[in-house]
Amino acid sequence: MPQKVTCSECNYVLYEGDILKSPQDIIKKYDGRCPKCNRKLGFSTNCVSIYPYEDKTNN
Ligand SMILES: [Zn+2]
Repeated sequence: MPQKVTCSECNYVLYEGDILKSPQDIIKKYDGRCPKCNRKLGFSTNCVSIYPYEDKTNN
């Protein structure tokens, strides 16, 4: 199932796709900071939101 990882502060989409990625990988890719709100991203789920989504959801 596709996966979506967003900044829990500003909801910036850090990652979305079919491949399950660990939050660590995603956070590392962004140098530990949200590119939008500059919030420090931690490795815990308090800092990022990970949830499955369906392709057909309208947004
Ligand atoms: Zn953010």
